[in-house]
Amino acid sequence: MSTEVKTTTCYMCACRCGIRVHLEQKDGRSSIRYIEGNPEHPLNKGVICAKGASGIMKQVSPARLTRPLKRKRGSERGAGEFEPISWDEAFALLEERLSRIRQTDPKKFALFTGRDQMQALTGLFARQFGTPNYAAHGGLCSVNMAAGMIYTIGGSFWEFGGPDLERAKLFVMLGTAEDHHSNPLKIAISAFKRRGGRFVSINPVRTGYSAIADEWVPIRPGTDGALLLALTHEIIAQGLYDRPFVARYTNGGHLVITDPASPRHGLLATDEGADALNALYPQDKLWWDRHSNGPVLSHTPDSDPALFGQFTLPEGTRVQPAFQLLAERVAPHTPEWAEGITGIAAATIRRLAHEMGITARDEKIELPIAWTDCWGEEHQSVTGNPVAFHAMRGLAAHSNGFHTVRSLAILMSLLGTIDRPGGFRHKAPFPRAIPPSAKTPTGPEGVQPGKPLAGLALGWPGSPEDLFVDGDGNPVRIDKGFSWEYPLSVHGLMHNVVTNAWRGDPYRLDTLMIFMANMAWNSTMNTVEVRRMLNDRDAGGDYKIPFLVVCDAFQSEMSAFADLVLPDTTYLERHDVMSILDRPISEFDGPMDSVRIPVVPPTGECKPFQEVLIELGSRLKLPAFVDGKGERKYRDYPDFIVRHETEPGSGIGFLAGWRGADGGKSLRGEPNPRQWEMYAQNNCVFHYPTPPSYRYMRNWNRGYMEWAQRMRLRRWGEPILIHLYSEVLQRFRLAAQGKWPGRRPPAHLAQRVETYFDPLPFYFPALEAQATDLEKYPLAAITQRPMAMYHSWDSQNAWLRQIHAHNYLFVNPRTARASGVEDGGWLWVESQWGRVRCMGRHSEAVEPGTVWTWNAIGKQPGAWGLAPEANEARKGFLLNHLISDTLPGDTSNSDPVTGQAGWYDVRVRIYPAEEEGVWPDFPILPATKKSQPKWIAYVAGRTINE
Ligand code: SF4
Repeated sequence: MSTEVKTTTCYMCACRCGIRVHLEQKDGRSSIRYIEGNPEHPLNKGVICAKGASGIMKQVSPARLTRPLKRKRGSERGAGEFEPISWDEAFALLEERLSRIRQTDPKKFALFTGRDQMQALTGLFARQFGTPNYAAHGGLCSVNMAAGMIYTIGGSFWEFGGPDLERAKLFVMLGTAEDHHSNPLKIAISAFKRRGGRFVSINPVRTGYSAIADEWVPIRPGTDGALLLALTHEIIAQGLYDRPFVARYTNGGHLVITDPASPRHGLLATDEGADALNALYPQDKLWWDRHSNGPVLSHTPDSDPALFGQFTLPEGTRVQPAFQLLAERVAPHTPEWAEGITGIAAATIRRLAHEMGITARDEKIELPIAWTDCWGEEHQSVTGNPVAFHAMRGLAAHSNGFHTVRSLAILMSLLGTIDRPGGFRHKAPFPRAIPPSAKTPTGPEGVQPGKPLAGLALGWPGSPEDLFVDGDGNPVRIDKGFSWEYPLSVHGLMHNVVTNAWRGDPYRLDTLMIFMANMAWNSTMNTVEVRRMLNDRDAGGDYKIPFLVVCDAFQSEMSAFADLVLPDTTYLERHDVMSILDRPISEFDGPMDSVRIPVVPPTGECKPFQEVLIELGSRLKLPAFVDGKGERKYRDYPDFIVRHETEPGSGIGFLAGWRGADGGKSLRGEPNPRQWEMYAQNNCVFHYPTPPSYRYMRNWNRGYMEWAQRMRLRRWGEPILIHLYSEVLQRFRLAAQGKWPGRRPPAHLAQRVETYFDPLPFYFPALEAQATDLEKYPLAAITQRPMAMYHSWDSQNAWLRQIHAHNYLFVNPRTARASGVEDGGWLWVESQWGRVRCMGRHSEAVEPGTVWTWNAIGKQPGAWGLAPEANEARKGFLLNHLISDTLPGDTSNSDPVTGQAGWYDVRVRIYPAEEEGVWPDFPILPATKKSQPKWIAYVAGRTINE
């Protein structure tokens, strides 16, 4: 017997910590003995969480899919009855089917993925195939966070930026799950608190991070926008905004045309004589100079923009600085106004605003780092206003979330905290232009038989001309992304796919391929209905969604509906890249990417999904996967990673480290055949620390901007002014008002676009709350994932099941007593869409107007390889049964700007149940394997003798 240690990257959640896997070799076989955090990994520095340490149990999960499976002839979808087939048969079947679709109508193939970490590859495959119908999980997760932040400051939280807790003095966290950005954030908060920083958590629930906050501020779900507008009101009213920062680095000084009769009403006034340089991001806006009392080109040397006032340009156009309009917008939004909406006392809001303002103003940091801004001014130091924020899905997953997140980004900007020490800091490849330059095709002609898509499947619209619609304004994508219904749906709308495909609205699909997404259970909003749709047939007896392919490592509620199941590997059995082209692990000081390298061979016949895509891409002769003669170009996925370049000779590939023939180049360079070896020798991580003068103020930092453009982290070199006022949104509003010279929305959507495409943030109650009888359903119901499980991923994990095998509905004792619900008793929780029977617990750690539970603990009996009588099936429950993807009037329960699923918006009531047991009940799924070793059966909750 001998032992060996291999390094790779964890994937028990999305944080990507470095791990060391200890293996034992015995009788020629390698088995995993234990997993520890890698102390040499920059992200987690040796720390490992319960999930990470339990990867060994994922490896031996009773739910592992180990062979390709085909649904048994004559069996119903959802019954989970399969027969094994070979990979050759599976590939032949897919090649024949997908080839036919591609040669006739590529949009009939849709590829939707869950929380995978290979979107650069899945996106490339979809584009090369030619289908617009591709997206990952973002529409159901936190697209509002990405879109609201990126359309305002050019960057966002988590992978693309975050709080600089090393230097912050005050840290304010809003709407963040108890384990979000798990180990790295825990390490940072721990050090921050030891240094004496003050931590305020604003959240309806006090668990996880909120439990260790110095102050917990409970808030009603979906009302954060009102709080943020009131805080902004106070910051402006008390004169606590950072005027020099706002004037120079935001568009607060830009003059907005305020003449309702003008077709340019609400757009920014421009200097017609200025050289715009880049028509996409013209630098031709005007300031009203306080020195000369007249208009000047923005950032004219020695000028100083007015932030308040009303002016008339020489040719007679009435204008106002954008900041004036923002101040007018928030003027009525007093703390007293917000108190009635949020449940937070006005005095608390006022105190918090004051604390943020004076911490930013009076505790400034000066770092002796010289830098030059993009207008040529030299700065001898970098200034920091040490107030840091962090927020995530609690703000995003509401139908009013886009404007809420924009409100947060604006508050952060007024405090002068963007890409400065102690505030928010970007991570490469961000910041990017507002909006980023990636675009989808703009009409159905972008989808052609036998050709790649004429653009990206997902992009960043900057005006109505960028929408992906036909001549009548109808959507081209199956999820209606980038249409007038959801113009800025930058992550797609995974939650619309099944419903739309089932309805044939806007058209029917042929083949739906799902990777790592449990659409028949917790990755959907109306689970019972979606399950019915997946199994529904048309008048001719054919399934309305004709062919369903599921690729996953584990048997689940979703795999039971598949026509074809492709068994994926675990993260310990495959190569993977956390690519700079996708979501890398960059740090504030420079780009960083990482890889996974297999530590054990695949189980059974499992094949990494990446290999499936490379194989299919080669068989279908998609241009990126074949050479000039149409022959297969890449041996396998590792070969693809080494040799693929974004364009021939670009020197840019999926991995940024050790490029060039001898591995001596970083970020750009020719393919290096030994690149994987170099990652293996370096803890699976590549880190490129930039010079200190490139690490701050990157929206406007000349040195950084030129370097980033050379390295193709950015396409264009224009400064990225913060959009306090969003001209992008105003363009859509003008189109809805019939004043935009180009595209206009269909009549039935004009009012909706006009209302929600407000260039300034505003608060409105979530759409579901507006469509609910709040007297009858007064309580907000939300979920979060627990610290010890990543959504549904770990329900089959023997060690983690000892922590969570079922869930409760947590209810404030005051609310519970008023409803007659006992601690530990069974209760009904009911929304206008249905009801669920579950067990409740009294908890002071939730505000009285909210009930909550953990996400995805409840399971269909027999799913995930568990015994039908396992607690997950008999005591655990799923809140998704109470949520609808469609609201009365047939509108989608999504944010009207981005399409983000409003799955934290449901309103419920609770009352005692007379009977016990979880309801609704679902049929028992058969096991995918005929027999399991006794010990695996035991792990799955079956008795050892069964
Ligand atoms: S936080 Fe835990 S589960 Fe997530 S990547 Fe790190 S060790 Fe793995």
